[in-house]
Amino acid sequence: MIALLNQIPSETKIKKLLRKIVFGRNMCCPFCNSRKVGCSESRYRCQRCRRPFSLFSGTWLSNLKLSLRTFWALLWCWVNQVPVKQTVKLCHVSEVSVYHWFRQFRLHLPDFETILAGKVQMDEAYFRNISLLMAKEIGSKKLAHQIVYKNSVNKSEASQFLFQYIQPKSKLQTDGSSIYKKINQWWQVKHKVDIHRKFQFGLTSEIEGIFGNLRTFIRRMYHHTTPEHLPEYVSEFCLRFSSPEIFTSPNDYLAKTLKPVPTC
Ligand SMILES: [Zn+2]
Repeated sequence: MIALLNQIPSETKIKKLLRKIVFGRNMCCPFCNSRKVGCSESRYRCQRCRRPFSLFSGTWLSNLKLSLRTFWALLWCWVNQVPVKQTVKLCHVSEVSVYHWFRQFRLHLPDFETILAGKVQMDEAYFRNISLLMAKEIGSKKLAHQIVYKNSVNKSEASQFLFQYIQPKSKLQTDGSSIYKKINQWWQVKHKVDIHRKFQFGLTSEIEGIFGNLRTFIRRMYHHTTPEHLPEYVSEFCLRFSSPEIFTSPNDYLAKTLKPVPTC
């Protein structure tokens, strides 16, 4: 962890940060809300109901076995998009652990349901037996996506996607693929088309750029992908794009993902 030392706070500092995230200003018992809490080392005990608890009791980190500094270093690498293999070297943990922890960080990201409006670009991308539909609202960081578990997408899936993620009366921009032909009869949008063989790309350049960035992100950070993990990588990528504020530091990530105990 030598190379990372400057970035990783001391164990005491980390505990202080976590305590603030989980309990806010006032520490209280997660079971009975009493504020009379005794503390010895990292364990706490409620003086009213007598039950012991830790900083992570009741959160998704309740079974954390790593040292806090190693945990923080792994999370630092993940929020900063340090590739898995480099993280192995920096944090002195096995590749299996890095994949495990990066997955945990990914799975505990908040869910976002987005509806796109105004000008929207939409396109598909293919990864072996999986297809990906994605749309981007022009002039914002809003993305919507859907995985289709087969190697092509048909018109009914495309219109289902529109129905779910695109506000009626939006201006939809796509390439000339047949799945979008007369799509405005399936969902109320104003449809404009780029014909790629006529070297028209302006209407879909942003969404195509996003697909390029997605492929680079997966290859750089995770080195390869499997059909099992692809949907998670895509969700992670989209959230990194649309909500960068979650990924600015381990502290910001935890503040948005560690469920705090009820306030008392
Ligand atoms: Zn209690």
